[in-house]
Amino acid sequence: MATIDGLPPLREVIREHGLAARKSLGQNFLLDLNLTARIARIPGDLSNASVLEIGPGPGGLTRGLLAEGARRVLAIEKDARCLPALAEIAAACPGRLEVVEGDALEIDPLALLSPPIHVVANLPYNVGTELLVRWLSPPEWPPFWSSLTLMFQKEVAERIVAQPGSKAYGRLAVLAQWRCEARIALRLPPEAFTPPPKVSSAVVHLVPRPEPAWPADPAVLERVVAMAFNQRRKMLRASLKGLGGNTEKLLDAAGIPPTERAEQVSIEGFAALARAVSGAGA
Ligand code: SAM
Repeated sequence: MATIDGLPPLREVIREHGLAARKSLGQNFLLDLNLTARIARIPGDLSNASVLEIGPGPGGLTRGLLAEGARRVLAIEKDARCLPALAEIAAACPGRLEVVEGDALEIDPLALLSPPIHVVANLPYNVGTELLVRWLSPPEWPPFWSSLTLMFQKEVAERIVAQPGSKAYGRLAVLAQWRCEARIALRLPPEAFTPPPKVSSAVVHLVPRPEPAWPADPAVLERVVAMAFNQRRKMLRASLKGLGGNTEKLLDAAGIPPTERAEQVSIEGFAALARAVSGAGA
């Protein structure tokens, strides 16, 4: 039986199992095991934790996570063609890798894993963003995950970590940073992938705060932020008219000048506004 280091190079695995990349599944593979090891180290010590990996493909990042000592990895992959290659990795690490075939948008990982859970994924960008929004809006906080380490198109990564006053600052930044520390941990050029995508990529690392830095009702905050950024070029006294109640009074209660635009308002400011809206029953 092969050990993890004794497994064949990924190019060979891809050839042997006929894993020609499919565009429809967003398949841009990482074949450099030094690079996948670097990504696997981003969450920190995994020896006492489980990892939820979404979209393992031929298993480059999976190998990295196991080689870095992850206690257990649950990998969810939609493409059945990848399963034999992943079974070879599982055989090299008895009892540490479980592979589930299916759509990550439809599978509940908590049926198969118990916390602490670190989520790691190199996913197609549309699926990644949808899962990120779900993971950031759970019914209860803190969430089931201890960290998220996710590959995104560079522009999406920059929107997640954006600061007020920048063009990239918007709903995603507020959603991510209200209750998490978020940073770009690694930047990757298109050539890091096989085949290379058209755009550059970046790995974002998010760690949940035990509580939001500034209290607010999540649903009210989301409503206020969505409304403000839907018309991001308008002054808030105009873009927030649909909130109900006296908009200028609400902004005043939150300490926000009514002439400001959404991208100038800090997350602290949006949270204060959400509290004012909740308080006014608007
Ligand atoms: N992790 C591998 C790597 O880094 O080389 C593969 C990355 S590739 C960008 C994305 C992977 O996600 C593919 O293997 C693809 O089949 C899989 N995938 C796409 N949509 C998925 C979904 N909804 N659920 C689970 N896996 C999915």
